[in-house]
Order: sequence, then C-alpha cells, then structure tokens
Amino acid sequence: MNRYDEAIERMVREHAEVVRERIERHTVWEPNTGCLLWTGANVFGYGVVTTTAPRLPVRVHRLVWVLNHGPIPEGIDVLHHCDTPPCVNDAHLFLGTQLDNMRDMIAKDRYPRGERHHNAKLTVEKIGLARGLRLQGFSQHSIAVRLGVSQSTLSNALTGAHWKGVA
Ligand SMILES: [Zn+2]
Repeated sequence: MNRYDEAIERMVREHAEVVRERIERHTVWEPNTGCLLWTGANVFGYGVVTTTAPRLPVRVHRLVWVLNHGPIPEGIDVLHHCDTPPCVNDAHLFLGTQLDNMRDMIAKDRYPRGERHHNAKLTVEKIGLARGLRLQGFSQHSIAVRLGVSQSTLSNALTGAHWKGVA
C-alpha cells in the first residue's frame, strides 16, 4: 500500500470525527446535481486535505470513500459518476481502474477535447487503454476518435507494428 493510502486509513481510524467535521465545514450542496462540493484547498479541482500523522496531502474524495467503506484495494481509483472532481458526495463515487474511468468517459463522451487534434501521439499509456477497450468490444473507430488519432495510427499501434514491447 502506498504511504498516502496508509495516511488516509490511519486518519480515518484515529480521527474519524475530525474528518467528518472538516467535511461538513468545507462543503456545500449543489441542489441541482446533488453534488457535495468541497470548498477548501484543491489541486487540479480535487479537494485536498492534510492528514494528521504523517502529514501528507490526500484527496478528499478518497478519504470520504475510506471513511464510509473501508480501505481501497491496491491500484484502484475512486471515480466520480458525476464527473465533478470537487464532489465528495459518497453516493456519486465508485471504485474502478483507470480503464473503467476511460470506459465511463467514452460512454459519456467526455474525453478531453484538447487531445482530439488529428495526429496526436499515442502514448504508451493510451495504447494500453486502447488495447483494453478493444478487448471489451469498443470499435477501433470509436477508440481512435476519442484518443484523437487516425484509425490507421491506432490500428498500427494495436497490431504492434510500431509499438513492440508495449504491454
Ligand atoms: Zn457529485
């Protein structure tokens, strides 16, 4: 387990009341969406708090998950059904891998548009995701569109023509 998750679990174990109180004090309800929005410090839109011991910055939605459901399995992310990073409403959170997040984004058509220019490079990470998506039945076309590359670039990558060694 990484030290951030360790710090979160310890904070929840030893200071659950402090955690609940902080969440109450630093959130507001968004009546239209039901999101519980974090109003405290944030990094890239995600609420962040510092744990007590050790003192480490951790993401609030992850802390909320552990508070309500217990430890998060290794390598798993806490994701938002509502696509709202500052939201810490437990009912809007779910556990998943980065691949689950990608599938969720494609299902909702919210892949970042900035990455959609035609000859965007395929990173190793994207190829890994693309392979996973292919295995789960997404068409090459839909994956290529969402990753912002041409279908031939994607096809070459998937068949390994230029990407030998990318697992
Ligand atoms: Zn929400």
